[in-house]
Amino acid sequence: MGNEELRETLKNMGYPAFRADQINQWVFQKHIYEPENMTNLPQEIKELLGTQIGFVLPEVVQHLVSSIDRTEKFLLGLNDSETIESVLLYHKDRITACISSQVGCALKCDFCATGRSGFKRNLTCDEIIGQVLVMERRPGSNRDEPAQKVGNIVFMGMGEPLLNYEEVKRAIHILTDPKQFGISKRRISVSTAGVVPGIERLGKEIKEGTPFLTGITLSVSLHAPNNRIRDRLMPINHKYPVEELIFTLREYIENTGDRVTIEYILIDGVNESDETAQELCALLKGMKVNINLIPVNPVADPYRRPSEEKVARFQSILTKNGFEAVQRVEKGADIEGACGQLRNRGDKR
Ligand code: SAH
Repeated sequence: MGNEELRETLKNMGYPAFRADQINQWVFQKHIYEPENMTNLPQEIKELLGTQIGFVLPEVVQHLVSSIDRTEKFLLGLNDSETIESVLLYHKDRITACISSQVGCALKCDFCATGRSGFKRNLTCDEIIGQVLVMERRPGSNRDEPAQKVGNIVFMGMGEPLLNYEEVKRAIHILTDPKQFGISKRRISVSTAGVVPGIERLGKEIKEGTPFLTGITLSVSLHAPNNRIRDRLMPINHKYPVEELIFTLREYIENTGDRVTIEYILIDGVNESDETAQELCALLKGMKVNINLIPVNPVADPYRRPSEEKVARFQSILTKNGFEAVQRVEKGADIEGACGQLRNRGDKR
């Protein structure tokens, strides 16, 4: 629950506002999530926590650690026995949490394991936040051991965040509130498959100065510069075709002044030719974007990665045309924790 809401709820129950600060300190600084261990709270508040004040944590059903790069994948069980997956990625100077916004996904992108497993439901704000809380306090860790702080959040796990706008927005508020997670807004990325009304709404709210949204990064999974290729890969393109998406993004960049990240997975024989690279440059001409190139993670036939030479060639065409284009370093492939490999594993419970 957000800080203001928590204060309000406590106030309505006749408790002073400083109790909210105490609860926030336990949860977000000391990583003590069990009300019975919050020693400075009166018994009645301890009893309310978790029932009405809402810090219900998902259960760790499975925890895998990559032997290649330490990436950790968590299979988390929710109260209605649905499951989601969340990932921790270790960088030199910080830890990124890749979190889910829905159980499954309705968009059915052909190359993505989540899309193939279908849509179940939206996550609540508490469930979105619960993923980070659980990952910060490592499973089985000793209370005296300091929890590890997440410094970066990417909404790139399961689901389409802009189709669960309200709950994702509330979660971003908690993630950035200095009394709660206190994560810098620059270190929060929302990734969309191209839900045009969601992008419009986000741009509008940022322009209007919604305090906890200004400064977050929008990432867009483009993956193709034309409708012919994109229609095949991403059914959502029938609803919001490339030209409409790009029009909306140009407007978003103009309204917010922010740089947008373009995600582009490279699939052998599908979207990696020189002509396609040129077409992409023409499409994005003049736009303030960073391009992330991701060689596809094979989750289903017939999607294969192009050779390293082809990837380098594609990248160099973008760079020569003046674009910032980097190849995303893959992490967690041995535990199926890489992009597009997350899914609902109802069978495991
Ligand atoms: N629904 C959102 C966020 C989840 S996907 C979105 O589509 O952006 C996060 C990223 O992983 C997206 O860029 C998605 O296209 C990419 N992805 C999905 N499947 C992949 C795969 N098999 N290989 C590489 N990237 C993949």
